[in-house]
Amino acid sequence: METETGHEEVISRNFIERIIDEDLAQGTHGGKVVTRFPPEPNGYLHIGHAKSICLNFGLAQQYGGVCHLRFDDTNPAKEEVEYIESIKRDIAWLGFTWDGYEFYASDYFEILHTIALKLIAEGKAYVDELSPEQVRTYRGTLKEPGVNSPYRDRSIEENLRLFSEMKDGKHAEGTLFLRAKIDMASPNLNMRDPSLYRIKHTMHHRTGDAWSIYPMYDFTHPLSDALEKITHSICTLEFEDHRPLYDWIVAASGLPDVPHQYEFARLNLNYTVMSKRLLLQLVKDGHVSGWDDPRMPTISGLRRRGYSPQAIRDFAGRIGVSKTNSVVDFALLDHCLREDLNTRARRVMAVIDPLKVVITNYPEDTTEYIEADNNPEDPSAGKRQIPFTRELYIEQDDFMENPPRKYFRLSPGREIRLKHAYYITCDEVIRAEDGSIIELRCTYDPDSRGGWTADERKVKGTSHWVSAVHALPAAVRLYDKLFTAEFPGEKTGNFLDDINPDSVRELSGCMVEPSLAQAVPGDYLQFMRTGYFCVDSVDSSPDALVFNRTIPLRDSWAKLKKKMGI
Ligand code: ATP
Ligand code: MG
Repeated sequence: METETGHEEVISRNFIERIIDEDLAQGTHGGKVVTRFPPEPNGYLHIGHAKSICLNFGLAQQYGGVCHLRFDDTNPAKEEVEYIESIKRDIAWLGFTWDGYEFYASDYFEILHTIALKLIAEGKAYVDELSPEQVRTYRGTLKEPGVNSPYRDRSIEENLRLFSEMKDGKHAEGTLFLRAKIDMASPNLNMRDPSLYRIKHTMHHRTGDAWSIYPMYDFTHPLSDALEKITHSICTLEFEDHRPLYDWIVAASGLPDVPHQYEFARLNLNYTVMSKRLLLQLVKDGHVSGWDDPRMPTISGLRRRGYSPQAIRDFAGRIGVSKTNSVVDFALLDHCLREDLNTRARRVMAVIDPLKVVITNYPEDTTEYIEADNNPEDPSAGKRQIPFTRELYIEQDDFMENPPRKYFRLSPGREIRLKHAYYITCDEVIRAEDGSIIELRCTYDPDSRGGWTADERKVKGTSHWVSAVHALPAAVRLYDKLFTAEFPGEKTGNFLDDINPDSVRELSGCMVEPSLAQAVPGDYLQFMRTGYFCVDSVDSSPDALVFNRTIPLRDSWAKLKKKMGI
């Protein structure tokens, strides 16, 4: 990855790389690097997850190690299969592979249960029956120590019997639960006899109805790491306080490999929300069309919007890895995106808001093909032939009847260059009955093919265009941010209050060059002068093309918005 972006070299090694360097130098972990990415399959991955993916899979690549993909599926919930599939698709799309290293926490249910029995047998865990309110009261606060549960000193035999009954489904949800017996007076709240197992009479997508009890995340997670012999268990800062508990659990389990956990700052991005709970709410309440809505910060949303995996990886590399929480400006992601798309997008001509142009001195029934570079930044992208005919479309925006000073596009009597083609001069404006302009009559200079004249006449304006008979009708969707506030919900406490009512605008009646008939989702396109676009993977069809604008070239959004009155 470093060679592709060229940024890794200039960024000094992050603190995790320095730790790994040291471990390798000392021969710790037998010179191995095994990381993991452990998503909970309860939603689609978002740009924050991309940071963690790039870090974990990236380190494995960099050090010749492996990165496990582990689904933390300890909480049986609906639709997990859809989420699992989406997670795999997204990681693969980002450019990472996990080979055979695909794991499920649910695969460890049996062994986790055995470890729980061991803890009970050694007096390190007990079955409690306090109500959730009581648990809260007994736990104490940061200032006050907790109080021991009256059930804390049950006999080992009774604990084993009750735990077995829990497993056999003999108790209702929320009645009994298994707790670690650690220290109710610990200054670390996580150490105050945390819950290890709870009763849930719910089907699990992998284990079916085999279990009536499910292990808690804090119990499962460190043991999964230990079972998989993870050498560097990397997670976000909020789990720092859980580390003593994780270490306690792994030590109590007797498993030989004790992974070390390292915490880094999670990605926060302005003008967006990243919690899966909030993203799910946007989907469920219909504020967006789905998890892959092009306005969503999900990886599938970014993909459908036309982001490239390279841009996202570049972004992850540039934000770096640190131990201090901060907010990254969305503009950085935009910048990485533009920089990448500039190198990879095929340049095409598309007229968003068409105005007809008739070239009166050009023969009727003639089509001339003009060769154009697909990408001047990349000669290997090849060339294509663009049809030129007597009737064309240009942007409404590229003509003004009474232009102000410094307006260099077409106006009566003015000459401009048509990109890749000829110089044209506007002779006449044709109006509809209501006075609106419906057509321009122009003449072309036959000696200006390719955009240059023999006398090297200079014109200041260049317009893109399409041949009217060849152009394909299309709709385009222009996007703005999903939230108007930098920190959605900051003012009112409800993030929905900051939803941008104008975050998408669909314009129909656009005319695009015929080569776009072959464009498919995943192609990166630059509509000359209007932005980067892609084919919408859901709504576009050969008969009804729909393009999403990924991002304007610069700030053409503001300009178009003004013009469209939106
Ligand atoms: P959310 O709060 O959005 O529900 P989560 O942390 O509960 O996210 P998981 O599926 O548990 O979601 O996350 C999988 C991995 O991705 C974890 O290791 C987590 O640390 C990491 N991760 C999640 N969000 C971010 C983020 N914003 N920045 C960096 N890493 C993240
Ligand atoms: Mg989580």
